[in-house]
Amino acid sequence: LNLKNRYVVKTNTGTSALHIALRAANIGTGDEVITPSFNYVADHQAIKMTGADVVMCDIKDDNLGIDYEKAEKLITDKTKAIIPLHFAGIPCNQKEIFEMAEKYHLRVIEDAMHAFGTTIDNKKIGSYGDITCFSFDSIKTMTSIDGGCLILNSKEEFEQLEQMRLLGMHREE
Ligand SMILES: *Cc1c(COP(=O)(O)O)cnc(C)c1O
Repeated sequence: LNLKNRYVVKTNTGTSALHIALRAANIGTGDEVITPSFNYVADHQAIKMTGADVVMCDIKDDNLGIDYEKAEKLITDKTKAIIPLHFAGIPCNQKEIFEMAEKYHLRVIEDAMHAFGTTIDNKKIGSYGDITCFSFDSIKTMTSIDGGCLILNSKEEFEQLEQMRLLGMHREE
């Protein structure tokens, strides 16, 4: 497992992890973000907090994850990111989503709130990809009562988020 160049930013909730992940991806007013309609309210709230518009996409019956074929039809020139959700820890069609994102230059912010410990092709969710968000809320697989984190690849984005996550302060740990 190669965890080189994966950076962890800790947050107070999973919702804030999603919010600052979107901010790191430079998403704001005028942009569109695709997210599954079968969801918790946090994805919607995090997108709206950046000023961007929420684009709901239907899900697949077999894995309860976003229907990537329908998602492709929702892409416009305003689409900047997609938030696939691994509902109840069940892997969604991650590979197809990564391929689609590459084709259309979208950021992929994974909602892995239910998926701490989930593996896809023997690789743990969060150990690869673009940005992966976790929640440690009391009903999740691992809890700190309230808490969250996100994992990303870019040192630059990591340093930016270390400040953004708490009052613009950076604290060495
Ligand atoms: C729990 C959850 C979140 C965010 O959780 P917080 O309560 O803010 O930690 C986001 N998305 C989904 C699908 C969730 O279930």
